[in-house]
Amino acid sequence: MIDVLIIGSGPAGSTYARTIGDALPTASILMVEVGPRVPGERGYHTMNMTDAARTEAQLLTQGPDAGIERAAALADIAPGIDPSLEFRQTILPGLFFVDPRPKLQAGEVGLPAASMVSGVGGMGIHWATSTPRPHQSERIPFISADDLDAALTHAEQLLKVTKLQDATGLLGAMRKAMADEFDGPGLTPVGYLPTATHWEGDRVLFSGTGVILGELERTVPGFELRSETLARRVLVENGAAVGAELQDRRTGETYEVRATRVVVCADGLRTPQVLFASGIRPKALGHYLNEHFQMASFVQLSDEFDPAAYPADEQSLGSVLIPFSDARPMQGGVTPLANSAYKLPFGDDVTRSRLGILAWYAAKDLQYSDAVEFSDTETDFYGMPKMAIRYGRTERDLATIEELRQNSLRSAARIGTLHEEPALAAGGSSLHYQGAVRMGETDDGASVCDPYLRVWGVDHLYVGGNGVIPTATAANPTLTTVALAWRAATELARGLERIGS
Ligand SMILES: Cc1cc2nc3c(=O)[nH]c(=O)nc-3n(C[C@H](O)[C@H](O)[C@H](O)COP(=O)(O)OP(=O)(O)OC[C@H]3O[C@@H](n4cnc5c(N)ncnc54)[C@H](O)[C@@H]3O)c2cc1C
Repeated sequence: MIDVLIIGSGPAGSTYARTIGDALPTASILMVEVGPRVPGERGYHTMNMTDAARTEAQLLTQGPDAGIERAAALADIAPGIDPSLEFRQTILPGLFFVDPRPKLQAGEVGLPAASMVSGVGGMGIHWATSTPRPHQSERIPFISADDLDAALTHAEQLLKVTKLQDATGLLGAMRKAMADEFDGPGLTPVGYLPTATHWEGDRVLFSGTGVILGELERTVPGFELRSETLARRVLVENGAAVGAELQDRRTGETYEVRATRVVVCADGLRTPQVLFASGIRPKALGHYLNEHFQMASFVQLSDEFDPAAYPADEQSLGSVLIPFSDARPMQGGVTPLANSAYKLPFGDDVTRSRLGILAWYAAKDLQYSDAVEFSDTETDFYGMPKMAIRYGRTERDLATIEELRQNSLRSAARIGTLHEEPALAAGGSSLHYQGAVRMGETDDGASVCDPYLRVWGVDHLYVGGNGVIPTATAANPTLTTVALAWRAATELARGLERIGS
C-alpha cells in the first residue's frame, strides 16, 4: 500500500508530487506515465537540449507516431483531410493528433488539430512557457482573490517564472505602441508576457517539469516515477478510490497498486478518459470542453521596430502582452522573431529576419454540448476508450472571432505590414483543452470536482490539469493549472498528515 498514486507526469502531476513530497518527506509517492523517458535528465525542457537531442526526445513522445518525422507525418495526413474544413492543420514535433479526420455532425467544427504528448514530463518538456496570470472573469469566482493570488505566486516560484517589469529597448518601444493602441478604462494594461525561463550565465533556460520536481528523488526516498506504465482505471471500493489497475507497456503485464489517495493528471482529454474507464461518469464529465480561438499572423516590422536598431540584450528578449479583459475577451502577444528564445520551427532565415509574430487568443462561449465523448466499445492506440470530440461555435463565438481578426489587424498595422491576412488556426491548435473535468463550487451537475480538485462523490480521488479550469479564458493556462494543483496537493497532504498523526 502506498500513500499517493499520481497518474501522469506533466506539470500538474509534477506539482502534486513536489508539493506532497515537500510537506511529507516520508510519504510513498508513485507517479506513473504511459510514455517513455527521454534521454538525459528527467523533465529537462527540450529547448535546453542540443538540436540532435531535442529531435530524439520529440520523436519519442509522439505516442502512436513515435519515430515519425513530422514533415512525413503531415504529408501522410494531408490527403485525408476534409477539404471543406476551413483551416490549415498543423502539428508540432513531439506531439500526436487525437483524431485528424473527425467525423463531424451537422453544425460542428470539431477540434481536428487537437494533439497530445506521451512521455515523461508530458507537454511540460515541450511547452513555450508563456505564463500570464488570469484576469477579471478568467479568474475563478469561488476562490477568494487572496487565495488565488497566493497560489499563482507559488506557481510562479515553482515554475521559475521571469517577469520583465520595464524594458528600454525594442520590447519597450513595442509595449508603448501597443499600450497607445489598446489601453483604456476598465482594460487590463498592456505589459510584457511572463515566461517560465531564467538566465544561467549567457543562456536562457526553459523550465520543464524537472524544475517543478526539483530533487524529489533525493529529498523523498519514497518517490518513484514509473514510465511506460498505463493507468487503465482507478479502483473504487465503497465510494472511495483505493488504487489503480496499471499496465506495463513493455511486457503487457497488468497489475494493481493500492494507494491511500489517487490523483489523475493525465492531460485535458485523457483525465476524463481515465475517469470514464473507471466507471466514474458524472453528468459534466467531458462536457464544457473549450480551448481558445487562436489567430496568428506574421508582420514585416517597420523601420521604427527594426530589431537591428536596438541593443540585443536581456531586455529585448520576449513578448509584449495585451492581456484579457471582460470588455475585450482576448489576449494578444507580439514577439519580434529575431528575439524569440523559443526555437520556432521556421528555419534560421526567417527567425533572423525583420519579422514579428502576432498571436491572439480569444475565449470560447462555454457550452455543455462541447464535449469529449468516450466509447464503451472502441479503443484507442493504448486500449483506452476511444475519444470523439463534439465541438461547435455559437453566434457569440463568431462575433468574438471577428473581433479577434480586427484586433490582429490593429496590432499589425501599428508595428508594420502584414505578410498575409490573419487566419483562424485549426480547432485544437492552442493545445490548451479546458473544462472537461471542471471544478465547481457545489455538486450541481455542472462540474466534476470541488475547488480542491476532489472528484465529487468519490472519496480520496483528485484530478488536475487544464481540464479543471471552469472559466472561459484566453490566457495560457499552465500557470493557473499549477496554482490549482498546488492548492489541491496542499490540502491532500494535510489530510494524509491527519491520518498519520
Ligand atoms: C509546443 C507546446 C507549447 C506550449 N506552450 C504553452 C505556453 O506557452 N503556455 C502554457 O500555459 N501552456 C503551453 N502549452 C501547454 C502546456 O504544456 C500544458 O498546459 C501542460 O503541459 C499541461 O500539463 P498537464 O500535466 O495537465 O498535462 P500534460 O503535460 O499533457 O501531461 C499529461 C501526461 O499524462 C500522461 N498520461 C495520459 N494518460 C495516461 C494514463 N492513462 N496513464 C499514465 N499516464 C497517462 C501523458 O502521457 C502525459 O505525459 C504548450 C504545449 C506544447 C506542446
